[in-house]
Amino acid sequence: IWSAIERTQNEQDLRQTAAALRENEWQLKQLLKLRDEFIAIASHELKTPVTSIKTYAEIVQERMIEKNLVEESDILKRLNAQIDRLTVLINDLLDTTKTAEGKLSFQFGPTNMNEVIQERLEEIRGATSHTFCLELSALPDAMADKERIGQVVSNLLTNAIKYSPAKSTITISSTALPNGVELSVRDEGYGISIEDQAKIFDRFYRVTDNKMDTFPGMGLGLYISSQIVQRHQGMLRVESELGKGSKFVFSIPLKREG
Ligand code: ADP
Repeated sequence: IWSAIERTQNEQDLRQTAAALRENEWQLKQLLKLRDEFIAIASHELKTPVTSIKTYAEIVQERMIEKNLVEESDILKRLNAQIDRLTVLINDLLDTTKTAEGKLSFQFGPTNMNEVIQERLEEIRGATSHTFCLELSALPDAMADKERIGQVVSNLLTNAIKYSPAKSTITISSTALPNGVELSVRDEGYGISIEDQAKIFDRFYRVTDNKMDTFPGMGLGLYISSQIVQRHQGMLRVESELGKGSKFVFSIPLKREG
């Protein structure tokens, strides 16, 4: 009899524990939903004023250049660069909520990926002391959204710059595959442990190493990049060794399925 009572007690305990777990899971889901709603609203609201600040700052910068006010126009140039950084952060937040809801829009067309690399590199290379080495092969056009896939290239370049020592070399390569193209960005930086390699594509994940604390970021770039590459029916992956450097590789097909 005692063992039967004990069994019933255990079953009751188990049922109670399962109910508590379900309740916790529900609460967690509600919290995550609230977080996403907050991010969506906050980033949307921030975008409008920042866009007009940028417009005005550009007008003022042009006028200062016209009036030959060298020092002032230099300050405005710096201001504009900071506004651009802010815009990238806000867009990342907006894209994150959109991609989580499947609402990120794409316009696919034949795209020369070497051109995308050159354009994105031009935007960035003046702002860093790194050496860039290009290993580009002749490529057929891939089916891509030029703006979005360019965002991936920019993210990988920015990370390579951020997470490797000044003046080190960053190698960008492109290769034609039988049915697609493959791009890679390789740095001689701090590298990423095997454990972290599995997590860096997660939303908001950043490696919590003391060294890394000094680098600004929200842990969204790789999440968004891998989502964008997946929407291209491609793959983004990393090869890396701590202390030696990292190589991010992605491929996209020439034609889209379906
Ligand atoms: P963020 O750079 O804003 O933190 P990302 O999603 O782009 O966000 O990257 C996530 C994390 O992956 C970074 O915080 C960093 O720890 C690591 N990481 C990304 N790229 C590199 C790289 N090239 N070398 C070393 N670590 C990297």
